[in-house]
Formats: sequence, C-alpha cells, structure tokens
Amino acid sequence: MKKTLINLFFLSLLFFFILPTKQNPITRFQEYLQINTAQPNPNYSESTKFLISLSKSLNLESQIIEFVKGKPIILLKWVGKNPKLSSILLNSHTDVVAAEHHKWNYPPFKAHIDESGDIYARGSQDMKCVGLQYLEAIRELKSSGFEPIRTVYVSFVPDEEIGGHDGAEKFAASDEFEKLNVGIVLDEGLASPNENYRLFYAERCPWWLVIKATGAPGHGSKLYDNSAMENLLKSIESVRRFRASQFDLVKAGLKAQGEVISVNMAFLKAGTPSPTGFVMNLQPSEAEAGFDIRVPPTADPKSLEKRIAEEWAPSSRNMTFEVWMQVEDANPFHLTHTHTHTYWPHESWCDTVMVICTTFCTKLIFWSLKERIVTLMTKVYARHKNIA
Ligand SMILES: [Zn+2]
Repeated sequence: MKKTLINLFFLSLLFFFILPTKQNPITRFQEYLQINTAQPNPNYSESTKFLISLSKSLNLESQIIEFVKGKPIILLKWVGKNPKLSSILLNSHTDVVAAEHHKWNYPPFKAHIDESGDIYARGSQDMKCVGLQYLEAIRELKSSGFEPIRTVYVSFVPDEEIGGHDGAEKFAASDEFEKLNVGIVLDEGLASPNENYRLFYAERCPWWLVIKATGAPGHGSKLYDNSAMENLLKSIESVRRFRASQFDLVKAGLKAQGEVISVNMAFLKAGTPSPTGFVMNLQPSEAEAGFDIRVPPTADPKSLEKRIAEEWAPSSRNMTFEVWMQVEDANPFHLTHTHTHTYWPHESWCDTVMVICTTFCTKLIFWSLKERIVTLMTKVYARHKNIA
C-alpha cells in the first residue's frame, strides 16, 4: 500500500504541473467564495446559479431538489460505463458559518489573494474548497478522456452549519437518494496542518447543551447560598475542569482531537438589563449557559449523560438542562462500518477507498483533501501569473 501511496503522490504532482494554463481553478474558486452563503441568510440562489453553470461547462446532468422551499440541493451526475454498479457520491455543503467582518484582515467574501498566494475567505476550508475540487478534478479527468466505470454523483447540500435538517437529512431519507444506489460517499474531514492526509470513517456527534440555574433574587449587597449565579458558576467550573482534562490528553499526544470529548462554551445569559448595561446591585434569579459538546464514537454516552445530570446541572442546585443531539438515539454516532462486504465485495473500507484512488480517480482523492490544497492551488495560480 505504501508504494501505491507514493505513486499516487507523484501522479498528483504531475497533475498540478500539467494543468493547462487556459484553465484557472483559482478564479472559479474565488467566484464561489465571493457568494455570501453565510448563515443565517445564505444566498443559495446565487450559489445554485454558479454551480449549475459550472455543471453545464462540464456537460454533467444536473438537478435541483428542494425538500424545503429556498433550500436547494444541487445534484450533478456523471454517468459511468456500468451504471448498474453502485455509485460514488461526492458531497459538500454550500453554506458557511457567519463571519465577524471587522475582525478580518480582508473582507471575508472578497476571496483576496495576498502576495504569498494565500486566499482569505469564509468557507475556503469549510468547505467550498472541497466542492470545487470535486468539479475541477472532474474537469481534468474529462479533458483527459477518462470515463468512470461507476456513475459519479456530486451533491451540494444546504444548511449543514445549522444541523442539515432541511438539507442532507431529508436528502438521505428520500426516494431520490435511494435511487442513486450509492456505494460510498466522500465528504468533509479535518484540515491537515502538514503533508499527511488523513482519512476518517467516523464523525463525532454534536451535543448542544443548555444548563439553567434558578434561585431567589436578592440585593447585590447580600451574601446568601444557592443564588442562580453562584450555582451556574460552580457548574461552569466543573465543565472547565472536564474540558481541561480532555485537552490535556491531546496536548500530551495521548489522543487526537477527534478522540476526546470536546466542550466549548457557546453563550452565557444572565443579568437584568438596564439602559446603560446591566443592573449592578441585583442578583438575578436565572442564569444559563450553552455548550457545544462533540462526542466521539468511542466515548460512553451514558456516562456523559450522568455527568451532566449529576455534576453540571444537578437538581440539588436548582438546575435543569436540555441537550439537543444531531442524530436520534437509535443511531447516536455517525460511524462507517469498516468490516468487509460493506460496499465493494470483498473489500474493507480502507481497501474501498484505495480502489477509488487507483481505479477511478486518484485526483479526486487528492483534490478532496483539505488544508494544503489551498496552498497547492495558489501555487498553480502563482505559476500562471509568472507565465503571464
Ligand atoms: Zn463543514
């Protein structure tokens, strides 16, 4: 397998160096980034227009599916030589998270390229680069005369950043999806800070936790037990200690980021508003905090639930909590089965990915891996500039 990987690496290098100058994936990438698809008001009509026009330029069949009005799924199809075989689906999401414009060195939807070739844009990694890489890879493969054996679908889904309920969730449960006869899906992973490309077959499950403390209101000059603020602070300290214990495992190199339970505070809500800010001499009767928790498939959800109920929001401290999970209890984790016969006959998951690499699309694999790709693409861009 090592040798194959080395061969793939050189193939991908070759790919970058023979890229014809008349094509410019960078400008197409910039154009995609310049469409403001930030939640909560993503401009899906512009992104749809853009993706459909790219699809036309690639002679792909295209379809716009709307399970919820105004939230389009763009589905592209490249028919394989043997469409009876299970297909390959390349998925990405079109929406991005919001940006605090004033904190950016360059406007987040300008896709500015600096002197060193770095592109600044919201969504450049998560995950417009991946969607565009799929299409650029198809462009290259088509121009080289390549024909896939299996049918390849490329889907661009909405609303991933807000849970995907009106996008991927409805799509995956639909007849339309069933008809695709999907054998394997490639989707987003983690950015890599070095040259090692990592493949993932599982996803941590988001738990969005809100804990709420209630207590008697009181004058700011008095000391008394069980105020809402005091109870919430105790919980926050407990959460903080747990967070540190998980982070220490990562810092010590004992676990990877994706192997620990991450906890990050998302909001704090307390206090009595006044015209100038908050009333300062009043202890409020309610206080709450929200946390974004990510639970890996290897963690024990029961013990985490117990920890939340007993340590982070115990009823003995007048606390309540709510947890919102992205998937239902019956299937608490996104985990790809790695045993044999799952997708391709007689192939394990790893072998299946390698099959895609070697017999279908070396380029897709390399183009679909994040992080370094932006650098690689900008190097191509810089080379174009030099030639020009
Ligand atoms: Zn993403």
